[in-house]
Amino acid sequence: MLGGGQLGRMFALDARRAGYRVIIFTDEPKGCPAGQYADEEINASYDDAEALKRFLSQVDVVTAEFENLPASLLEAVEAVKPLRPSSKAIFTTQHREREKLFLRDQGIACAEFRVVDDLKSLEAAASELGRPCVIKTAAFGYDGKGQCKVNAETDLAEAWKNFEGHRAVVEQWVPFVCEVSVVGARSVDGKMAVHGCVENQHTHHILDVSISPARVESAITEQAIELWEAVAEGLDYVGTMAVEMFVTAEGRVMVNEIAPRPHNSGHYTIDACVTNQFQQQQRVVCGLTPGDPTQHTPAVMVNLLGDIWPAPKTHPDWSPVLNHPRAKLHLYGKKEARARRKMGHFTVLGDTVEEALEHALAIRKALGIG
Ligand code: AMP
Repeated sequence: MLGGGQLGRMFALDARRAGYRVIIFTDEPKGCPAGQYADEEINASYDDAEALKRFLSQVDVVTAEFENLPASLLEAVEAVKPLRPSSKAIFTTQHREREKLFLRDQGIACAEFRVVDDLKSLEAAASELGRPCVIKTAAFGYDGKGQCKVNAETDLAEAWKNFEGHRAVVEQWVPFVCEVSVVGARSVDGKMAVHGCVENQHTHHILDVSISPARVESAITEQAIELWEAVAEGLDYVGTMAVEMFVTAEGRVMVNEIAPRPHNSGHYTIDACVTNQFQQQQRVVCGLTPGDPTQHTPAVMVNLLGDIWPAPKTHPDWSPVLNHPRAKLHLYGKKEARARRKMGHFTVLGDTVEEALEHALAIRKALGIG
């Protein structure tokens, strides 16, 4: 596993239960979230050829738990061992410009956009796309980082200052009625298994609540799943992948972002599905067919950010989650809580999605999440 965060941790937990040996290669220090549950943790810079050689000599197959990895590393891995998803799929989806061009090439619905690299091209893009629109850095953006909304009154010269010297994508603003995502897996021989359509609510651009199944019409779910399949086939994808989407008032679904890995909005699958997103990742990466993705119980997931930690080395009082018979707490073993840092999540199961949501929101409130 390349990367040492919570997605690698949840992968390692399930993979080891199934009897696999998991080796983590990460540039994080020892004791990182994934390393705590791995058989071995190699902590080195991603350009440390000696450490990479040591890692590759111990593994049969390689996957990644986050996409912001140097292309040179991905290519070096792929030259020696199978990398799933491929370096090409990760390279395309780690960068907004390449991702958008891929979507356009494939004819997959997404917000109209322009690629800009200076104030002049930004001005042209804003006048062609109209306002509001949104500027996003081409590389290394996530959770709304490196984004700027352009309204009627926005001074473009001022807005461009944050992007100076970088390439950016300017997107038309989508007046969405809700945001959804689909998480699924595709195997080496092209078999696909999706978990269904999840409804996502964000606060400050960070995922806050995921509701599954999404409270949308079946035509929306069908479109969302078709888009996921088109992306997976277009990338010749092998692994677990998430696609985040916008739903418009007219009932159109458009791709916002692709995550070439398990995703925060798929965490409910751990407690609510026959096979969860990490088990799917492990299965298809190891050359097996995907498991049954069926959701057996309606579920709502709530993210736990560092903001509710009373002090860095303490814990909130978890009793509202722990005292609920159908709530499951998941903590990521991060040593230090910081504002906006994803520290854990909890999932509440219910007989209906409305019941799960009601209970999840009550717990969320009791924990002091604003
Ligand atoms: P992103 O980092 O691209 O996923 O964007 C973070 C959040 O910003 C999304 O989940 C949306 O709530 C909002 N957003 C991003 N792009 C657009 C857009 N083109 N139109 C409307 N809202 C957007």
